[in-house]
Amino acid sequence: MSHCIKFPDGFLSIVDTDATCPSCGHHHPEEWYYKALNNSKRAMIYKYCKNCGQRMCITIDMMGDTVTWIPDTKRGRPKKEII
Ligand SMILES: [Zn+2]
Repeated sequence: MSHCIKFPDGFLSIVDTDATCPSCGHHHPEEWYYKALNNSKRAMIYKYCKNCGQRMCITIDMMGDTVTWIPDTKRGRPKKEII
């Protein structure tokens, strides 16, 4: 969850960039998914967890936090969303 700190001259926003596996809770660093997500036309990618092998979707919300969920089908519709 992002945190926003107000300063007299502006704001500082701190965001969570680790992709957390919805199945096992393993944290993946930003370097693991950033290049593929940056090249994605839909701003969403599918990756397999390095710990448990679960297929998951990864995207970034409007605040800059990483959002992951387990896709319902092979077409990628979300089953449940974990922030
Ligand atoms: Zn996992």
